[in-house]
Amino acid sequence: MAGVLLLALASAGAAPDRSLEAGGLSVAVRDLSSGRADQSATVRDVPSGGPGQSATGHSPRAGDRELPAEARGLWGDGAEVVRGVRSVVVGQHAAPESLRDLARRADTAGSRVSAVLGRPVRPVVLVPGSAAEAARVAGVGSVDGLAAVADGGRVVVVPENFARLTPTGRDIVLTHELTHVAAGTKRLPVWLYEGFADYVGYRDAGLPVRVAAAELAAEVRAGRLPSELPGSAAFAPSTREPVRLARAYQEAWLACRFIAARFGEGTLVRLYRDAQTGGIDQGLTRLGLSAGTLTARWRDYVRDQLA
Ligand SMILES: [Zn+2]
Repeated sequence: MAGVLLLALASAGAAPDRSLEAGGLSVAVRDLSSGRADQSATVRDVPSGGPGQSATGHSPRAGDRELPAEARGLWGDGAEVVRGVRSVVVGQHAAPESLRDLARRADTAGSRVSAVLGRPVRPVVLVPGSAAEAARVAGVGSVDGLAAVADGGRVVVVPENFARLTPTGRDIVLTHELTHVAAGTKRLPVWLYEGFADYVGYRDAGLPVRVAAAELAAEVRAGRLPSELPGSAAFAPSTREPVRLARAYQEAWLACRFIAARFGEGTLVRLYRDAQTGGIDQGLTRLGLSAGTLTARWRDYVRDQLA
């Protein structure tokens, strides 16, 4: 697991469609501790079928040998397994209804990622019993303020925080993290892998760009355009500037969204793969771009989309 933490927050009430992915630890801490999320997050678990029925009607119990490798050896008798159409969800002492809901969402996330990558994606989602167990399973020191973490072939849900998201927020988080899992992040600039994960996450989420990129839109309306693509420092979860962190995700998202809009989604995917094998500069060269020309055209796009 490498720098692929994400939090999605949601606010509802007066503006029920506003579901923003804040994209950072500091934002998470601020908003979760302010009580705003408590009041605003909409939790919707849709029970269906009776206890002991999986999303597809098969037995929820399965021997470890029948599970994907990423889901084996967890929680002994406390593990509950629910299979979706293309997903496997393993919970620790979790309510079957919430696991079935997650399996449906993981199926949706899987089909969204698959549609972009052009190959089957089979999500493995783990639902530990607590944030502390999520941190242990993911091998990270803390998951404070995070809704889910991408970790070695699987998405690990942080149950307390995930439960506070709106349905739209849950789908975006699962899709974002699953994109990291399926597409990989190694050898890539952070703006490309975070922007790509948000590109896939928001692609079918139905949120207007000015809503999803609210913090960046405020900057643009104030006459301030970002000068360069966000570097790794801008994504550091220890940043004390949570709004800046949110903007970093939004800037990266719009860079990928620009490439898909201008050159086509297939070209964005090819750039991602080219950058993994030959580096980002070589990938951009195939598009007739340099880091400088991409930056200039991305700035124009940000202004056009958000002004
Ligand atoms: Zn991410």
